[in-house]
Amino acid sequence: MKNEEIWQLVDARRDLMIALSDRVWGMPELCYSEHRSAAEHAAMLEREGFRVTRGAAGIPTAVIGEAGVGGLVIAILGEFDALPGLSQEAGVAERRPVEAGGNGHGCGHNLLGAGALLAATAVKDYLAERRLPGRVRYYGCPAEEGGAAKGFLVRSGAFQDVDVAISWHPASFSGVKDPRSLANTRIDFTFTGRSAHAAGAPHLGRSALDAVELMNVGVNYMREHMPSRARVHYALLDAGGIAPNVVQARATVRYLIRAGDLAELKPLVEWVRTVAQGAALMTQTTVETRVVSAVSNLVGNEPLERVMHEVFLSLGPPQFDEEDRAIAAMFRATLRGDDIAEAYAKAGLPLDPDKELCDLILPLGGRGAGGMGSTDVADVSWVVPTVQASGATCAIGTPFHTWQLTAQGKTAAAHKGMVHTAKAMAGTALAALRDPALVADAKADLRRRTGDQPYVCPLPPGVEPALNMSVVQGGP
Ligand SMILES: [Zn+2]
Repeated sequence: MKNEEIWQLVDARRDLMIALSDRVWGMPELCYSEHRSAAEHAAMLEREGFRVTRGAAGIPTAVIGEAGVGGLVIAILGEFDALPGLSQEAGVAERRPVEAGGNGHGCGHNLLGAGALLAATAVKDYLAERRLPGRVRYYGCPAEEGGAAKGFLVRSGAFQDVDVAISWHPASFSGVKDPRSLANTRIDFTFTGRSAHAAGAPHLGRSALDAVELMNVGVNYMREHMPSRARVHYALLDAGGIAPNVVQARATVRYLIRAGDLAELKPLVEWVRTVAQGAALMTQTTVETRVVSAVSNLVGNEPLERVMHEVFLSLGPPQFDEEDRAIAAMFRATLRGDDIAEAYAKAGLPLDPDKELCDLILPLGGRGAGGMGSTDVADVSWVVPTVQASGATCAIGTPFHTWQLTAQGKTAAAHKGMVHTAKAMAGTALAALRDPALVADAKADLRRRTGDQPYVCPLPPGVEPALNMSVVQGGP
């Protein structure tokens, strides 16, 4: 069996990385403030003999570990950021926060980071044991939720010499991840008016809150005329205060604008900006904008997807047991029927409402109704052939960004799914290291897909990571 040896190397570090995942689960940190989680990852990399770079691309919580010499460079991407408001006790199938209003790992990035590090460690050990040329580089990427750090890492040249990139995400099902996602950009619009007593001298005031309201009305009228896969969402960051008798002199709304690709996104962003100016004109206020983050759409890679699928097939489905299924059944009982139906629809699978946990490998190319989210892995996928796995770690249908996902972040099933996917990633890395023709094919596939529109960083020049982002609204 050609992958047995590297899978044994994955198993050898299994408990160590499960413990890392559990520790990170217990210290949920947000967007660019993942100081303890990044330190845990850096310490593990050092312990395992990687050459460690902290503060990559000038981002304090970005950590890179490299091992091996010469040869090809395989990147394995991990994450470790959490989400606000999703604090939840582990293993409890009812809403019970550890800390009211606290953070929680509601997208499974504790598993994502530790699983990626597990795969990278196995590849490192394999290269060392066989004395083979080749390097493996673990990228500990912060701020996937809302900060899109990978775009800044790409812009800094951190992927310049990488031949293949591999990542994964926890999910309901195991297999090659659907290589589709939307481009997006997040922009804060801050309106400035003039404060006044709202009853005594309203004619002297100019309301920034009115401007935000008119902007939202204007943007909502855009919707009918947008491409059907485009999306626009907004959140009020600052409504101008809580006193209705004061004309609000300042107000900020954050917009998240998504489209199929950057070409489709650009005119929509310009339109939203024009609407903001219109709202300022109507209210005699002024508007300032700040781009918080931006990501491209994912570029798939057929040769790598084919190889990862073969590795998954040789692995077989994750081996969950009766106890795993009993725990998953408790969580499934808290889900809505349409959450479960949605998971099957997205995977392109027929609905099987009685199944608690994944017992299959997703068919390759059997795409369902997915691809409407965004990810900062996309910017890596434009410059390096990239493949991602889905790894079954939770009851089928558990939506992302929910307390149910936080609660399942330390179950035995989550650990098994993480180790299983680490094996799929390590096997895929090994295939690339063994077969230069595969890497050449993967690069040709990337050129074919992007040839007529080479990568343009979606971040406007001068935009830096929002390290002090005080308000984080949801994920990508
Ligand atoms: Zn996520």
